[in-house]
Amino acid sequence: MLRDLMQVYVDKRYCTGCQHCKDVCPVGVYEMVDRNSPDVNKDSAPPEAQWKGVVDPATKAKWENVNDGHRHFADTNDGTSGGISVAINGSACILCQACLIECEGECIHIIDDNGNHYKSVYK
Ligand code: SF4
Ligand code: SF4
Repeated sequence: MLRDLMQVYVDKRYCTGCQHCKDVCPVGVYEMVDRNSPDVNKDSAPPEAQWKGVVDPATKAKWENVNDGHRHFADTNDGTSGGISVAINGSACILCQACLIECEGECIHIIDDNGNHYKSVYK
């Protein structure tokens, strides 16, 4: 089935809040949203991938003590990191794939207009 639009969503359970996706996306697909904001699930993530207040334990263990200049799992965004990523403008995606290799949580999903499903793999 042909789809009309690109679909992008973040599986919020795995998002570290590193902000890499927002920083690399050339077309403004992502916004960083505070974890307690009512806007935190305003992308097309399916119910199981929405933010319900619980980080995936393995992802937290892997990243919580990494000191790379980005805050991990902070509740609020300070302009450089923190909060959680929401793909508010997924239909603008041009599938450049920049975010797909920069996502620490490996939690970005893109479904193109032919229905092909891409998932981020951190490089
Ligand atoms: S693949 Fe799409 S969402 Fe990701 S950085 Fe490129 S344009 Fe932005
Ligand atoms: S790059 Fe991945 S882990 Fe980092 S803020 Fe974006 S969606 Fe979350």
